[in-house]
Amino acid sequence: MAAPRTTRPRRAPDPRRAALQQRLRQQTRRALIGDGPAVGVDIGGTKVAAGVVDGDGRVVAQLRRDTPTKSPQAVEDTIAEVVEELASQHEIVSVGIGAAGFVDAERATVLFAPHLAWRNEPLREAVERRVRARLGRRVGRRTVVENDANAAAWGEYRFGAGRGEARLVCVTMGTGIGGAIVNSGRVQRGRYGLAGEFGHMIVVPGGHRCECGNRGCWEQYASGNALVREAREMARAQSPVAHALLELAQGDPEAITGPLVTEAARAGDPAAIELFEEVGRWLGIGIANLAAALDPGTVVIGGGVSDADELLLGPAREAYRRTLTGRGFRPELRIVRAQLGPAAGLVGAADLSRGWG
Ligand SMILES: [Zn+2]
Repeated sequence: MAAPRTTRPRRAPDPRRAALQQRLRQQTRRALIGDGPAVGVDIGGTKVAAGVVDGDGRVVAQLRRDTPTKSPQAVEDTIAEVVEELASQHEIVSVGIGAAGFVDAERATVLFAPHLAWRNEPLREAVERRVRARLGRRVGRRTVVENDANAAAWGEYRFGAGRGEARLVCVTMGTGIGGAIVNSGRVQRGRYGLAGEFGHMIVVPGGHRCECGNRGCWEQYASGNALVREAREMARAQSPVAHALLELAQGDPEAITGPLVTEAARAGDPAAIELFEEVGRWLGIGIANLAAALDPGTVVIGGGVSDADELLLGPAREAYRRTLTGRGFRPELRIVRAQLGPAAGLVGAADLSRGWG
């Protein structure tokens, strides 16, 4: 009779143990870095905003630069320049960089940035090298790169409209849509760092073309770009209802901008109000989809379009209620406006670099 096999089957890794180890590593890192001032940098398509953020989320110093045109190196030089300037005046514990793009799970490389020239760009290393060359030393204990929407969501979770919410989703409505998920005090980055790209969920197959290459993405219907596109179209059609908008734009449909539509809507212009109702409706439909997938308790709406406040959020809540699956038989989430304004991204990036999230 053959001897029984004695090799033990290989044990599957214990997920609880892995999670515990990760939490311990994070706590150790936070303890090492501490709660001192951190630099946050928010890189947008047109502006680089940087600041020193204290442990309570207050911005104690701030700088702004234009984002240099297409060269990735020029943008990196600008980031290094602002970090150097802030670090030469403050004792900095860490540096967080929020970038509008797909950031890898290591939080070091920008894989792809639709509005910037980065393709597989090792941003963390590039910035650290430049800062060292300028200052002759490294700044802080750590530099991390974050997706800008994740950074803004973290800022709202820690210091703004999302405080105390265990299941939070943030939707940042700028030119496009930035999305982020914060669960139990952690940013949900997904397996490859790319979770939360809600703006590219397809809501209208075959609809408007998106910069991502697809058609009918949510951000083509619920964003600043969508608002401006519809407003200009209305004005170009010489519709009498667009009279007030055209007058504000001095007769040029191409001069209509998001803030201009907001201004008109606040002043009671029916056409501008209608444009916000339409964008708000699409926002609410998308949020109902997010509720089906993620079941959050609060959705925070930020970005420039949210300046319209209830003119946008009112129609969004209504459309959300009409579209929600299982409506009438489930609790409804809260839809609220972000509180930190344009600083959310840099505040969140700085705080995340201390080892949070
Ligand atoms: Zn898209």
